[in-house]
Amino acid sequence: MNDSYFHIATIPGDGIGKDIINSAISIVNLSSEIIGGFKCEWESIKAGAEYYSLTGRDVEPGGEKKIEELDSIFLGAIGLPTIRYKDGTEICPHLRFREVFGLYAGVRPVKAYKNIPNRLSNELSSKIDLVILRESTEGLFYTAAVHDRCPVENDEEVQDIMRITRANTEKLHDYAFKLAGQRKKKGKLGKVTCVDKANVFKSQAFFRKIFDERKVQFKDIKADHCYVDAMALNLVRTPWEYDVMVMENMFGDILSDLGGGLIGGMGMASCAEIGDNYGLFQPAHGSAPDILGQDKANPLATILSASLMLEYLSDKKNCKSTSSGSTLIEAAIEIGFERNELRPMEFGGDMGTKAITESLGSLLKDNEIQKQILS
Ligand code: ATP
Repeated sequence: MNDSYFHIATIPGDGIGKDIINSAISIVNLSSEIIGGFKCEWESIKAGAEYYSLTGRDVEPGGEKKIEELDSIFLGAIGLPTIRYKDGTEICPHLRFREVFGLYAGVRPVKAYKNIPNRLSNELSSKIDLVILRESTEGLFYTAAVHDRCPVENDEEVQDIMRITRANTEKLHDYAFKLAGQRKKKGKLGKVTCVDKANVFKSQAFFRKIFDERKVQFKDIKADHCYVDAMALNLVRTPWEYDVMVMENMFGDILSDLGGGLIGGMGMASCAEIGDNYGLFQPAHGSAPDILGQDKANPLATILSASLMLEYLSDKKNCKSTSSGSTLIEAAIEIGFERNELRPMEFGGDMGTKAITESLGSLLKDNEIQKQILS
C-alpha cells in the first residue's frame, strides 16, 4: 500500500516553541515509522515575535497563502512580552489565522494522568476527562487589537464588542454535540454543557437560545447550562461531572487555563482549532519565556496537539493509519505516566524536554504497548 502524505505548515514561533515542536515532530515521525501507511512533510513557515523584531512582519511574505495550500497547521508558541506591535499589544498572527481560516471550534481537552500531583485533594479528580470547546473567531475577541475594530478608541474611552452570530454559533453547538457523541462511543459521559452569562447579556442569552434550538437534533446527548461564574466554582469543586463544555471565546480562554491547572499545569494542555476546511494545532500555553533555553519545557501538550492533528487528518483524508498513530501516541503517554516513566520537571520531576521525548520514544517502541493498542 502507498503511504498517504500530509503536508503540514509548521510554525515553531517563539520562546520554548522551537524545542517543543521539534520534540513533537520526532514523536509523530516515529509513530509513522512504527505504524506505516502515512508520512508527514513538515513545511517550515517563519512567524512570530522574534521574526517581527527582525523583519517588521509577523508572518513571512506569502506565508498565509502557503498555509492555505497545505493539509494542516502545526504551531509551537507565538509571542514574547518584550516585543510588541506599535499599539503596545503582543505579536499574535495566530489570532488572525483563526479568522482568515475560519477556525471557529477551539478544542481543549482536560484529562488527568496518573502520577501527576493532583491539584485537588478529592480522589475523584483522577477521573477528570473533559473538553472545553472555545469559540475562537468572535465573542469578546472580535475586537482583539490585532483586528483593529474597536468602535470607540480614544484617550478617554475604549470599547470592545461581544459578537455572537447565529451562523457561527449553530456550527459551534453542532460541533459540541457531535464531539460528545464521538466521546460517548468511547465510554465518556455523552453530555454538553452550555457555559454562558445569559442572565445578564443579550449576546449570551442568544448563545443559549441557539444551544437550546440545536440540542433537539441530538437526542442521545444530555444537555445542560451553567453560568460562567458558577462554572469557575464547579470546575474546582466537581470537574469530573463534566464532559464537553461549549462557550464564547473569552470565557473559554480563561476556563481553559483553569482546566490546565486542574491537570497539573499548562504543559499538558493540548489544543485543536477547527474550521470547515482548515485545522490548526498548538499547545494551549504560551511561549513561556521564563524557562526558555533551559530544557525545562514539558513537550507533552504539543505532542498531544500533534495527536489531535493526526485524528483530524485521518477524518479529512480518510486515512486510518494516522488515527492509529494518534492512538499509539496517546496510549504511550497514558502508560508512561502509569509506569512513572514520564516525569516532567513542570511537576517536580527530573525530566526536561529532551528526556521526556526520549522516554516517550522508547514507550512508542515498547512491544507490549504496541500489542495492546494495535492488535
Ligand atoms: P499566553 O498568553 O501566550 O498564553 P501566558 O502569558 O499565559 O502566555 P505561558 O507562556 O503559557 O504564559 O506560561 C504560563 C506559565 O506556565 C509560565 O510559568 C510557564 O513557564 C509555564 N509553562 C507554560 N508552558 C509550559 C510548558 N510546556 N512546560 C512547563 N511550563 C510551562
